Amino acid sequence: MEPFVMQEKGLMLRLTGWESKWPQLVAGFSTRNGGVSRREYESLNCGLHVGDTVEHVIQNRRKLVEANGFSFASWTCAEQVHGSNIRVITDDDVGAGRMAHSDAIAETDGLLTDKRNVFLASFYADCVPLFFYAPKAKAQVIGVAHAGWRGTVARIGPKMVETMRKIWAIGPENIYAAIGPSIGACCYEVNDIVADEIKNVLGAKAFRVLTETREGKYMLNLQETNRILLERAGILPSHIEVSHLCTSCRSDVFYSYRKEKGKTGRMTAFIALKEG
Ligand SMILES: [Zn+2]
Repeated sequence: MEPFVMQEKGLMLRLTGWESKWPQLVAGFSTRNGGVSRREYESLNCGLHVGDTVEHVIQNRRKLVEANGFSFASWTCAEQVHGSNIRVITDDDVGAGRMAHSDAIAETDGLLTDKRNVFLASFYADCVPLFFYAPKAKAQVIGVAHAGWRGTVARIGPKMVETMRKIWAIGPENIYAAIGPSIGACCYEVNDIVADEIKNVLGAKAFRVLTETREGKYMLNLQETNRILLERAGILPSHIEVSHLCTSCRSDVFYSYRKEKGKTGRMTAFIALKEG
């Protein structure tokens, strides 16, 4: 069953299974619908770095965060550079990047926090969003990480797990993860440079995620690649949810960098803990 369920008149998909199990948690993924952006950004574009009108993006972000019961001041985001740097959010970081891309947490693709009322936001148009939640830790911890193929082979998923152990002494058996809507193996063709990187990181299991279609070309299942890496990092298979929604197939719902040839908006993967 698809873990990301359409809610709020098509504005977003929510991890309803997580939210009903843990009522203090809010987690999901915005769509491209219900916002004010125009042209190729129509309409709920949340990316400030893609050439859209700044006021429109801010209006869209406000709508999304408020529909989730949080204030715009809690919106916290990073620069996202297809790397594997992770930031543990401090009080000074809260609100970073919500009004201007230049204020976002620099050179960072993973965010973690044990603070309440911090709306962690991360942006997508085909890359894989990874969600993390440790409900049993003394301080509950949430996280989100941006995993395109570069972040994936840089092991951003396992690094999120390692950081949770290092900072909060959380074992992987106490972590839940979700892999969100992103470009599927149906649409994601890569060359042998990318395929070789995937083979390096997955070893013998690479055959499960790469299908050679013609000389030097492969279809890549980046969701399964991340799932395997999270499982190797110690997360229980039963604690990992995987979306089957392809951002390129479903251009009625999602922006797709590949399908729209680079000129498009961004969805937001979000996770936050309510007060109390
Ligand atoms: Zn597809």
